[in-house]
Amino acid sequence: MYGKSEGYRFLFGPVPSRRLGRSLGIDIVPSKVCSLNCIYCEVGRTTQCSIMRQRFNDPEDIINEFSQCYPSLEHGLDIVTLTGSGEPTLCSDLGYLIRKIKQISKVPVGVLTNSTLFTDPQVREELMAADVVVPSIDAATQETFRMICIPHPSLKIEDVNEAVVTFSNEYQGRLLIEILLCEGINDNFEELGKIADIIKRCRYEKVQLNTVHRPPAFSSAKAVGSSFLLEAALFLSKKGIRVEPVSNYIKDFSGGSMTRAELERLISMRPCSVADISMVFGVPKADVEAVLAEIPTEHLEIRDMDGVNFYFIK
Ligand code: SF4
Repeated sequence: MYGKSEGYRFLFGPVPSRRLGRSLGIDIVPSKVCSLNCIYCEVGRTTQCSIMRQRFNDPEDIINEFSQCYPSLEHGLDIVTLTGSGEPTLCSDLGYLIRKIKQISKVPVGVLTNSTLFTDPQVREELMAADVVVPSIDAATQETFRMICIPHPSLKIEDVNEAVVTFSNEYQGRLLIEILLCEGINDNFEELGKIADIIKRCRYEKVQLNTVHRPPAFSSAKAVGSSFLLEAALFLSKKGIRVEPVSNYIKDFSGGSMTRAELERLISMRPCSVADISMVFGVPKADVEAVLAEIPTEHLEIRDMDGVNFYFIK
């Protein structure tokens, strides 16, 4: 990939995370290995749909890159997240990596996961070492799961959600559950009511309600409106769920700086608008536009979503 080869093999960002603030990502699973093929995925379509854990890279290569580069990237960081181009729990070195990264990082270490491997006790055990775990619950019925997440054929949503309940009651760190709503698929109170029944049995800090904010893998993924996000938050709250709509929140920074290499690294991992980039680096939009103009057009892809241009390194 053009942008990533300029910089790191495994690190990306800091990137704006609607859920966690300013996040330094560690990409421990190659693009695009995942147990799901979510229609809303912002890193593209799954090319290898798998539930088999494996070693994708020498873990020492990941640790070495992190320990060498962390000091120059730690300013203003809120969290280090193991995530990236696929499902991180598919990496069989996950537990080792979390423990080693925690020894170096001064900010919490989190894992963003689609939850599908929580049925494996070994995965649950490895995740215990993380400070923050963010599992997704986008569906409670197999039909909705199939429509929104296009799962590996062996996955049953009932088993996955039961495993989230089990994990949440074993885990001692911060558990933030994400529900991502897509118009016409899981944006109905019947499905949300069933999801609420599962979450009520979990030990968690809060539920974050989200929708599609970046160009999705499939054009069928449509965002719900902000009024529905609030309505859904109210519905869940009335059922006793601690919930907040995340909307398009990105932590704001000002007085920052940005090099072209930093910008390219950011948009090689995630499509961003000029406003996103401006907020991540704390620089004026005009500066962002000037640096974007320096990138050769053959390397820069521009995707329009609801009238907003998102920039991505090809
Ligand atoms: S959103 Fe996450 S779980 Fe879904 S396909 Fe993309 S990487 Fe996999």
